[in-house]
Amino acid sequence: MNAPYIGRFAPSPTGPLHAGSLVAALASYLDARAHHGTWLVRIEDIDEGRAVAGAAEGILHLLAQLGMHADGEIVWQSRRKPLYEAAAERIVLHTYPCGCNRREIADSRLGFAPDGAAIYPGTCRHGLAEGRGMRSLRLRVPEPGFDVISFRDRFAGEVTQRLSSESGDFVLKRADGFWAYQLAVVVDDADQGVTDVVRGADLLDSTPRQIFLQRVLGVPTPRYLHVPVVRNEQGEKLSKQTGALAVAPGDEKAAVAALQDAARFLGLQPGPADSLDAFWRAAIPAWASLLRERGE
Ligand code: GLU
Repeated sequence: MNAPYIGRFAPSPTGPLHAGSLVAALASYLDARAHHGTWLVRIEDIDEGRAVAGAAEGILHLLAQLGMHADGEIVWQSRRKPLYEAAAERIVLHTYPCGCNRREIADSRLGFAPDGAAIYPGTCRHGLAEGRGMRSLRLRVPEPGFDVISFRDRFAGEVTQRLSSESGDFVLKRADGFWAYQLAVVVDDADQGVTDVVRGADLLDSTPRQIFLQRVLGVPTPRYLHVPVVRNEQGEKLSKQTGALAVAPGDEKAAVAALQDAARFLGLQPGPADSLDAFWRAAIPAWASLLRERGE
């Protein structure tokens, strides 16, 4: 546990923090603290169409109320576009302009990647068809047989994906002109020296694409730990529109209760705590011993 550790929490400001995002925040914070590491916060507001005014400030305020303080300046993706541009330029030989729209891609019926994106049939791989303009920028994935990405997730274990059939060539710059999440997250994790990504399991399926992109860019692959997604009673993943967490200013009891719920979800057994200090004093070693029990 003594190697340098840099972790991060990277919320998209599409709404207030909810019980599910708190679990991801707590896991990444506990993991960083249990490793005596650094914990960074990055606001993933690269999708400016989905960012909700005031949401980022609300998330940062709530993190502070819960006693989770970042060890460094908060990074905002919307202010880092030159970095994404430079990364895309570096790998220009691996990318190509694509003129297809969503409907054309769906019509090819290759199915959908686990995150819902239609698998791209490679129509524009060898150039744009006559009269078609560029809509998006895609990264070419290797041919079948050379396209398998495997990694060991610290929670989920061995994960394997065949990029050609399970993702296809994927988008780095979107038709609306914004850089895609996959590019921004890989560039930022590398630029910030992140060694450990701890986040929700909804992103497990994106990880092989991110690892492939890391290899193309020649940057290191961090360790990954994907924590289970919190679902409501109907079994649906919580969204930022539902179940917003609200802790009134100065209400330390409510802050502790929210943290204890999230800690229980992560398999910890937080004892009674009458202050944030008491909660953290118990939770960090409890997480460290959970890791030891899991053989880390
Ligand atoms: N911004 C993403 C989200 O809020 C998380 C990205 C990540 O942790 O890699 O779902």
